[in-house]
Amino acid sequence: MKKYTIVIDPGHGGKDPGAVYAGYKEKDIVLPIALYLGGFLSYTPHEVNLEINCVYTRTADIYVPLRDRVFIANNVKADAFISIHLNASPKHNAKGEEIWIYPGSIKSVKLADSIATYIDEIVPGKFRGIKEGNFYVLRETAKKKIPAVLIEVGFIDNPNTPLHCFNIQIRAAFVIATGIKKYLLNIE
Ligand code: ZN
Repeated sequence: MKKYTIVIDPGHGGKDPGAVYAGYKEKDIVLPIALYLGGFLSYTPHEVNLEINCVYTRTADIYVPLRDRVFIANNVKADAFISIHLNASPKHNAKGEEIWIYPGSIKSVKLADSIATYIDEIVPGKFRGIKEGNFYVLRETAKKKIPAVLIEVGFIDNPNTPLHCFNIQIRAAFVIATGIKKYLLNIE
């Protein structure tokens, strides 16, 4: 049986709402997506030979400093770190998913590629690509050689992609989980 530990990191929380639009707060949307993601990861049919232990950086509306999030990943020797966020755009009309990685991490590229295979199903035809960025959680997990991605699931400020609705949240969690499992099943 292949056993892995995945750290799931719902962005923001507590005093830090993240992006805010029309009364909706990023922190309140990424948390249920993260919890659904953990649910999908935690169950794999017996025949698949994969056991995933999920650790969350938060499971409530609390503020967790970025260094603590990385500490958790390092402490449990995470096989992957998945940070869940939402985008916002100046004209409130952008849509689609983005996957961010820290430059130079080969394992993170493989993880991102696997997730990218399925992530366009959240808002079909609107995947915005795998991008390189210097986010704190990506940079610091890269120093520990932990494969890490920061996923911008969609745009909180586009009424045509209502991310506060549980059906799109569950779809997002399912396709991200499918990509993570594909990555883990291909690790030698
Ligand atoms: Zn965010």
